[in-house]
Amino acid sequence: MSLTKTRLFSRGVTALVTALLLVFSAAASAAILGFRDTDAQVALEASFRDQLSAVEQAQWARALSARPHHPGSEHGAANVAFMAERFENWGYQVEVEEFDILLPVPLKRHLELLEPKTFTAALTEDVIAGDASTAQRDEVLPSYNAFSVDGDVTGELVFVNYGIPEDYEMLERYGVDVAGKIVIAKYGRSWRGIKPKLAAEKGAIGTLIYSDPADDGYAAGDVYPDGPWKNASGVQRGSVMDMPLYPGDVLTPGKPAIKGVRRLKREKAPTLTKIPVLPISYRDAEPLLAALGGEVVPAEWRGGLPITYHIGPGPAKVRLQLEFDWQRITIRNVIARLPGAEYPDEWVLRGNHHDGWNHGAADPISGMVALMSEAKALAALARAGQPPRRTVIYAAWDAEEPGLIGSTEWVEKHIDALDEKAVAYLNTDGNSRGFLGIGGSHTLEAFFNEVAEAVTDPQTRSSVAERLRARIMTGDDEKRRTDLAARDDIRINPLGSGSDYTPFLQHAGIASANLSFGGEGQGGSYHTLYDTYEHYTRFRDPGFVYGAALAEVAGTATLRLANAEVLPFRFSGLADNLQLYLDEIIELADKQRSEADRINDLLTSGSFELARDPEKTLAPPQALPAVPHFNFAPLKNALADLTAVAAELDRALDGEIAFEKLPEVNRLLYRSERQLTSSDGLPGRDWYVHQVYAPGFYTGYGVKTLPRVREAIEAKHYDDVDAEVAHTAATLRAFSEYLRKLAALIVPETSG
Ligand SMILES: [Zn+2]
Repeated sequence: MSLTKTRLFSRGVTALVTALLLVFSAAASAAILGFRDTDAQVALEASFRDQLSAVEQAQWARALSARPHHPGSEHGAANVAFMAERFENWGYQVEVEEFDILLPVPLKRHLELLEPKTFTAALTEDVIAGDASTAQRDEVLPSYNAFSVDGDVTGELVFVNYGIPEDYEMLERYGVDVAGKIVIAKYGRSWRGIKPKLAAEKGAIGTLIYSDPADDGYAAGDVYPDGPWKNASGVQRGSVMDMPLYPGDVLTPGKPAIKGVRRLKREKAPTLTKIPVLPISYRDAEPLLAALGGEVVPAEWRGGLPITYHIGPGPAKVRLQLEFDWQRITIRNVIARLPGAEYPDEWVLRGNHHDGWNHGAADPISGMVALMSEAKALAALARAGQPPRRTVIYAAWDAEEPGLIGSTEWVEKHIDALDEKAVAYLNTDGNSRGFLGIGGSHTLEAFFNEVAEAVTDPQTRSSVAERLRARIMTGDDEKRRTDLAARDDIRINPLGSGSDYTPFLQHAGIASANLSFGGEGQGGSYHTLYDTYEHYTRFRDPGFVYGAALAEVAGTATLRLANAEVLPFRFSGLADNLQLYLDEIIELADKQRSEADRINDLLTSGSFELARDPEKTLAPPQALPAVPHFNFAPLKNALADLTAVAAELDRALDGEIAFEKLPEVNRLLYRSERQLTSSDGLPGRDWYVHQVYAPGFYTGYGVKTLPRVREAIEAKHYDDVDAEVAHTAATLRAFSEYLRKLAALIVPETSG
């Protein structure tokens, strides 16, 4: 445990007394960031934990996942009523907030192999003996990708591996052009919406996406129902809207989808795909892939099907027909509010979505029932005379699956109030047996390390922090091992996108976190017909014991944020993580430069020509643009200053704070994340205003930290790099100034 974490919040005592007190109190109970009276908080957390019930979570989960509950469905509406009624009974002020959004559902899906032989894809998932949910068919959403455009296209097929930029570079070396063709890509390695986006940019007329058994099927593990993995008929549904541009309702970017708001014409909506796209099973993909000719794929493209994988194009020729009902539907968020007893205008927000692709037992119900457990326990404490000091708002979001729509529209509607009042947003989105995963704002890193130390792992009885630490230290990632050994806190992961934290963090600049357990008992039910109660309770979290653990983690965090005397934000961890991200970016630029030099030298010397098999079509790579040296100095200097002021502020926060200053100190603390945003947004996508965390825009994979600079280098927009460095440095310098003012407010004589 670090010094900063064990140091007590104290008032009016000498350093010596503080030190003695520290030893005394540490023996009585561990320090808790932001609390002077830790005993009272420890007792409160113990009675909170006593109220959590795994059995109750299982009962709720069975009811909520009994039938398909996609947005606009009958069971979805029933679930809203089910949750709203319980929140109300527990004592919450409940509001069901509605939005009218565009949500296409399929009218026609047809995929046919026309040449060199014929085959019609089944596009259905098998009924599984022993899983009664899979036999319910009348309310099931068929497998499809939401926000694909309509289309009827016929063309030769090309296999594009994962359909990411480096795959297209390889195709170019094989002399394969996808213009006028239909591409088939594996799921994985990118946000799925990038696959049709890139394919369309390259001139393709249609996209098929399938789960290869090497990644998600029999090569990975036993398939359902023998094991949790994807069987031959399973299909991953999912949205393909261009979410890295903006999430939420495609017709109302930046505005809530309510009455009176101007909507784009559907033809003008920039986040719809440009070409039709359909997800298929590996059973349906196999005959298509087996019919491909052309070169055999490079070794690293091979999948797990019992065929020789070829690139094409052709002779396989397919027809893809898709037609959607472009319906406007009403979606419903359940918002349950417990007013704070002392600071009603400071809001701690805690959310999970309630819509699923079908039964959605794991995604989202396993997270939803953990949230309900927390809400019930917190309300019981309030009824027993211990209400939260700050307002706690529980949210069950609708329409997350098609594109974070319920949460995004809600944030867009309440943006001004959130800007003033939101302390933090804690998200969950499903759960499983295993290890605690924490993604989030690095200002909450020290806080979440403490929370993780306070929660017991149900399988090992160690703390969930210790179990996570053990996993990292016994893992293969040497860099991570060395890093953790040299650090007090386990790093929390930066957040890109993929769940409802995105509008809070990246659009509203609210410190956010995403919490889940996982890594054990998972497998391929994600977004298939097989995400059922039966599958979940057999493989993912039998007995909901990790459901209770998730409720403990998120509930403890919510309680601490709601009750802390001084909000538990710390800044040295942020500065340290930013340093890591800058180092990674500099390394990336250096690597890109030496790689360009190496390739260009080999091209000049003719080595590629000499080494190639003359009977194969694989050509040398294209010459690469030379990578200039960039001026990272403004960012290095800004970070050096931020590191210094962060240490100064963290010291001040651990020391004495005058009682009358607390409201202003807390307000400045929780609004600090807003200062990491820039009103002009990110290049080409002004909905995303956060300058530290963003989902990938050009390449679409994962999270991009310091996105302006990182993406300019990755996309080889070398001319822009210095300007993006300067822009990001300016944001960080303004942030440091903000922290400096905060430190000066706490300790006037030593700052400024
Ligand atoms: Zn989900």
